[in-house]
Amino acid sequence: PFNFSAGPAMLPAEVMKQAQEEFLNWNNLGISVMEISHRDPAFIRLAEQAEQDLRELMAIPDNYQVLFMHGGGRGQFSAVPQNIAGPNATVDYLNCGIWSEFAIREAQKYVQHVNVVGAAEQTEQGKALAPRERWQLSDNAAYFHYCPNETVDGIALHDIPDVQAPIVADMSSNILSEPLDVSRFGIIYAGAQKNIGPSGFAITIVREDLLGHAQGNTSTIMDYTVQAKERSMYNTPNTFAWYLSALVFQWLKRQGGVAAMGEVNRAKAAKLYDFIDSSDFYRNPVHPNYRSRMNVPFLLADERLDGDFLKQAAQAGLIGLKGHRFVGGMRASIYNAMPLAGVEALVDFMREFERKA
Ligand code: PLP
Repeated sequence: PFNFSAGPAMLPAEVMKQAQEEFLNWNNLGISVMEISHRDPAFIRLAEQAEQDLRELMAIPDNYQVLFMHGGGRGQFSAVPQNIAGPNATVDYLNCGIWSEFAIREAQKYVQHVNVVGAAEQTEQGKALAPRERWQLSDNAAYFHYCPNETVDGIALHDIPDVQAPIVADMSSNILSEPLDVSRFGIIYAGAQKNIGPSGFAITIVREDLLGHAQGNTSTIMDYTVQAKERSMYNTPNTFAWYLSALVFQWLKRQGGVAAMGEVNRAKAAKLYDFIDSSDFYRNPVHPNYRSRMNVPFLLADERLDGDFLKQAAQAGLIGLKGHRFVGGMRASIYNAMPLAGVEALVDFMREFERKA
């Protein structure tokens, strides 16, 4: 089947096959990677290779630390303010959608002044973000946070914002999907379960000058400075997630890296949006300039057909298409592991469903 779930999401078939083959006998040790110590030289080599591969894939400059963290994307919602803003600080958040709202609420627990600079809004051409000219930025923000790809809303900000404060980006659903200038960011973080690996795991890429400022009561496992010093092994890390992520990084390199991935992702998204736009039966609610290339929400003209659509899609091997419970409708998540053939199969199914309806 082609799995369009938003997360945990489809992983590359090749990676899953390799993991299956190595499950009981990793690295010729006769045991699973899950069963050896994270301090074992073989695991340390895996961990270091994973970091090196990610650095290569994303062209991460040397003055950034790469951390393998616990607690998924939401864990970072609290880690960010605790690590790089004092309790009396001001921080700026662009409210891009549902995940931004959760991040804002979490930041409010740790920082006194959380300034929402702008938000998503309805326009004649669909949902969009407030334009940069209208953002109410603070003069003294410790950082500016935004979510370049809002997974639930299907809204994306394709240009990196031009702001003074260090930029913090929640890239949970678009990391590694296209080339990126990492040097424009203070922190990039991502829950792993979309473009990287298993859930509960997260990658945080942090510029070194931002380290060393954690609030005194920051829990030690969420302290970036400690994790940087301990090579993300302050406590026992999620070794299996780390291993699977390492396999995904190697798979990405074999695909030609993020440049090649970016081209395929553009082709996939164009195929789906072009079809939706050509039909009166399906509708995408987002302004064309703000459409996500990873998560494509769409609505049927008659929502009473939603149940039949999902049932028949599943019968055709197209699963995970139900929209998020907050917004309803459908959503096709087309992360790196989704091949163009999956999107073509979806479009064929949608065309046929419309014809029969
Ligand atoms: N941020 C974004 C953009 C997401 O899509 C998600 C979730 O799936 C999260 C944060 C939360 O991630 P987690 O469930 O790993 O905490």
